Amino acid sequence: MRAMSFEPTRTAALERLAHFVPKAGSDYARLRNHDLPGHPHVSVLSPYVRHRVVSEAEIAQAVLGRFSASTAEKYLQEVCWRSYWKAWLDRRPSIWTAYEAEVKAAQNQLATQSGLRQAWQDACAGETGITCFDHWANELVETGYLHNHARMWFASIWMFTLNLPWALGADFFMRHLLDGDPASNTLSWRWVGGLQTVGKTYAARPDNIAKYTDGRFNPAGQLAAAHEVQPLGHPEHPKPLPVPGSDSVDTGLPTGLILTEDDLSPGFLLEGGLRPVAGLILLNTTRRSPFNVAPQVIDFTSSLAQDCATRWGDRVGGFTIVHTPEDAADWAKAHAVEQLVAPYTPTGPGRTGLDAVAGATRLPLRRVMRPWDAAALPHATAGFFKFKARIPDLLATLQTPARHSA
Ligand SMILES: Cc1cc2nc3c(=O)[nH]c(=O)nc-3n(C[C@H](O)[C@H](O)[C@H](O)COP(=O)(O)OP(=O)(O)OC[C@H]3O[C@@H](n4cnc5c(N)ncnc54)[C@H](O)[C@@H]3O)c2cc1C
Repeated sequence: MRAMSFEPTRTAALERLAHFVPKAGSDYARLRNHDLPGHPHVSVLSPYVRHRVVSEAEIAQAVLGRFSASTAEKYLQEVCWRSYWKAWLDRRPSIWTAYEAEVKAAQNQLATQSGLRQAWQDACAGETGITCFDHWANELVETGYLHNHARMWFASIWMFTLNLPWALGADFFMRHLLDGDPASNTLSWRWVGGLQTVGKTYAARPDNIAKYTDGRFNPAGQLAAAHEVQPLGHPEHPKPLPVPGSDSVDTGLPTGLILTEDDLSPGFLLEGGLRPVAGLILLNTTRRSPFNVAPQVIDFTSSLAQDCATRWGDRVGGFTIVHTPEDAADWAKAHAVEQLVAPYTPTGPGRTGLDAVAGATRLPLRRVMRPWDAAALPHATAGFFKFKARIPDLLATLQTPARHSA
């Protein structure tokens, strides 16, 4: 099955982007929902953009170098879904904490309920007897990627046909997706389950699956009927926190640059004049789940970190890659760092890790925001529909908007 492979380098990400750009216009709008072997109609960039090996802004810029914003509207909207989810969760971090608690609670249930444990193991091993679902479970475990439509069908079948706890499904994705992302994953699972948008659930339908897999699968008679697909709860969202801002940096202090797996492209800081005395990459990929995160996910992220260290190391006197706040504190001491500077890090394990480093070093931590994030955060106030109207604000942050018609 191993059709997809992801070379863990920025060079590979840029090649993939260049290869996809010609398809980002009307082809994408027409064909993006088809889940076909090799995923020819989507960009398959998420493992890179999730770690910001290539940024949302760079992707938008490349696409706008080829198409007008209206021709590439659909693709640009999808890229902005990521920004929307990230901003939405960032303003409501308790949703992430509640998800983590829910996974822990479900983990305890697995320890005591053998029926649940067996059903969960069968689903994760692709042994449910529902051919399409089993195929996607295997594809995910083997390749670390699933098409968006397959993710929606899979999540729906997990919750409504197999009646498994949604948080365990989201966790299964987090352990195996190379792009496993606190915001996109948690909030998409909540959306499918009816926990995110009032009155909305997503029902996987056999005819829809047959149509968009070109007849490879047709689970007629095997899935929950539409009337059985009822919201798992009532969406009750916490009040959004105030819009966070970008910190200012004291350029006179010996500065340590810290990166996390959320942003492995420090160019915007270094080219903006930051002169760190030392660089550190804090990797805590294992914190994506209380279960074991798949080795290929850990390898992928740590190879991306290595690639970043190779590309930028000479600008910071070399990067040290660590896994614990204590090792980060030793690094800060060894380099006589008096201030930590990091790219703004959204809600999730990366943020938690960074906060722990600030605590362990007792140094001031300055979080510098990219213009794209600063433009997105104020607008995560309600649903995507409202956010979508502000996409021009995000595009206005691009440095040299090249808008050709196509
Ligand atoms: C249940 C479920 C779980 C998901 N979990 C994750 C996750 O952990 N990490 C993750 O990155 N994405 C997640 N997604 C969103 C989406 O499925 C993937 O980002 C997308 O499939 C990536 O493939 P691509 O790069 O080929 O996308 P393309 O179709 O080429 O889209 C381009 C880019 O737009 C963004 N994008 C596209 N669709 C979405 C979307 N629905 N939500 C957010 N961003 C989007 C991604 O950055 C993607 O790389 C999830 C979706 C669902 C339904």
